[in-house]
Amino acid sequence: MGNRAASLSWARHQIAQLVGPVLAASSLYETAAWGPIEQPAFLNQVLLVQTALPAPRVMRTLLAIEQSMGRQRLQAFGPRTIDLDILYFNQLELATPLLTVPHPRLANRRFTLVPLAEIAPCQLHPTLGLSSTQLLAACTDPLDVKKFSTAIEPGNAVLPSGL
Ligand code: AMP
Repeated sequence: MGNRAASLSWARHQIAQLVGPVLAASSLYETAAWGPIEQPAFLNQVLLVQTALPAPRVMRTLLAIEQSMGRQRLQAFGPRTIDLDILYFNQLELATPLLTVPHPRLANRRFTLVPLAEIAPCQLHPTLGLSSTQLLAACTDPLDVKKFSTAIEPGNAVLPSGL
């Protein structure tokens, strides 16, 4: 919802401040909303972030950033200002209510795999043993993923109006 590119920019800035340096940032991609609710298209971006924090702490920090940006969980799959997910945490395999990595729906979603393959094509999925490029080639998700803007310098953040 709102100025989607500005929300992503502000989230990148907050992640750099609170989690660690953003080493790579994909282009922004636009995908039609999936699911039962009629809503505007989503923008998606994948970041590579270096951090000294343990994985659960990173998850709690991302949830706090979502909250600070006004994310309300009114409807599952409904419109939102921001949704921050952890796709991989190195080669860690973890399944807890707070955090599951690799992200369990990673391999099913072109809107995740397209930007992931842009910045980390050779990253291996620790359980499936496939690279991002191979996961993308095998993905049957029919949703179209269109490039919205090219890769941005990590760290260039603009405060979205209304936040
Ligand atoms: P969602 O709003 O659908 O992104 O779900 C967020 C909830 O899923 C939060 O309570 C998180 O603690 C939990 N969660 C578990 N694993 C992950 C992950 N890899 N990335 C983001 N959220 C996760």
